Amino acid sequence: MTSSTGRAPAPPDVSPQDERIDIETRPSLEAKDLYRFFWAGDEETLALRGVNVTVSAGEVVAVVGPSGSGKSTLLSCLAGLDEPSGGTVWVDGERMSHQPESVRADLRARTIGIVLQSDSLFDHLTVADNVRLSQSLATSARRRPQVDALLDSLGIRSRARAHPSQLSGGEAARAGLAVALANDPAVVLADEPTGELDAETERRLLALLTQRARQGRAVIIASHSPAVRKAADRVIALADGRIV
Ligand code: ADP
Ligand code: MG
Repeated sequence: MTSSTGRAPAPPDVSPQDERIDIETRPSLEAKDLYRFFWAGDEETLALRGVNVTVSAGEVVAVVGPSGSGKSTLLSCLAGLDEPSGGTVWVDGERMSHQPESVRADLRARTIGIVLQSDSLFDHLTVADNVRLSQSLATSARRRPQVDALLDSLGIRSRARAHPSQLSGGEAARAGLAVALANDPAVVLADEPTGELDAETERRLLALLTQRARQGRAVIIASHSPAVRKAADRVIALADGRIV
């Protein structure tokens, strides 16, 4: 496979065919033989050691494992925020790994929603404007839900004009989810999204993520929480950078 360094991001319908997996059978997300090494001085950390992950549309997959097992590194590589040292990541039929940052950023904006524990919102923008900002970053997005309809589906339409500092914990979690879903991404990646939430808020957030999967998206959640494990269709357990 040739590198496409310097290539402008192709519009979704005319991407090079050799970069695509058959539409009928392709998974939403596929990672093959992922390795990620970190060096600090002479010390080498093997954060991922040959991880294979395939997630189909409609699935909720939990990534579990002790602290330091590689969950966040895996999600960062899947999101194209980090480059694996070895292996390949495909998202919605397009190669994410080993691409120029501009190509990764475009693919990420179009196809991936990222949900974090907290602080994913800009304080000086309203909830609605945080969502619009995310939409404006995905210039070639295929699907762009109406902001009001999206906030309505998450039960926070009445908070559209509120600023993040004015939101309750549960509202902030759903506003963060709204930003992640701003471009109706094929893949939702959530890294410990419920770590700071009470049980009821966690339950609501997981219900919304599960609903998303049932609407044909792929959802991957890294978490320590038993509730996440229970909500998932499938569990991937990591230890020392390997699937166990
Ligand atoms: P988890 O999310 O499961 O807690 P991480 O993916 O954050 O695990 O970390 C996996 C391993 O990689 C840990 O040993 C961590 O210290 C190391 N690591 C993660 N990111 C970096 C980095 N940027 N530089 C050096 N080491 C890192
Ligand atoms: Mg982590």
